[in-house]
Amino acid sequence: PRVEEKLYQNRYQVDAGKPHITVAPHDTPSPNLLAMTRICPAGCYAQNEAGQVEIVADGCMECGTCRVLCEETGEITWNYPRGGYGVLFKFG
Ligand code: SF4
Repeated sequence: PRVEEKLYQNRYQVDAGKPHITVAPHDTPSPNLLAMTRICPAGCYAQNEAGQVEIVADGCMECGTCRVLCEETGEITWNYPRGGYGVLFKFG
């Protein structure tokens, strides 16, 4: 099935006020960070008018892509959502 159909099978529980991913303050985003606005499969990353990259982590599928690319460089912090929050995969 297409990815949209798969996504439809998942529920998402927003942990209000406790984003599990945060972007470190920056003036100009690195190519890595900028790439997340195109790569994140959930479309969580976007550039604001000033050019900085921001994240709205609601809907994050915890695919780990941004974690691999941007956590070690210190550009983001990434933690799994608390139990019961975040993406709840439903199979079968
Ligand atoms: Fe997007 Fe994946 Fe990062 Fe979540 S873990 S914000 S879905 S790239």
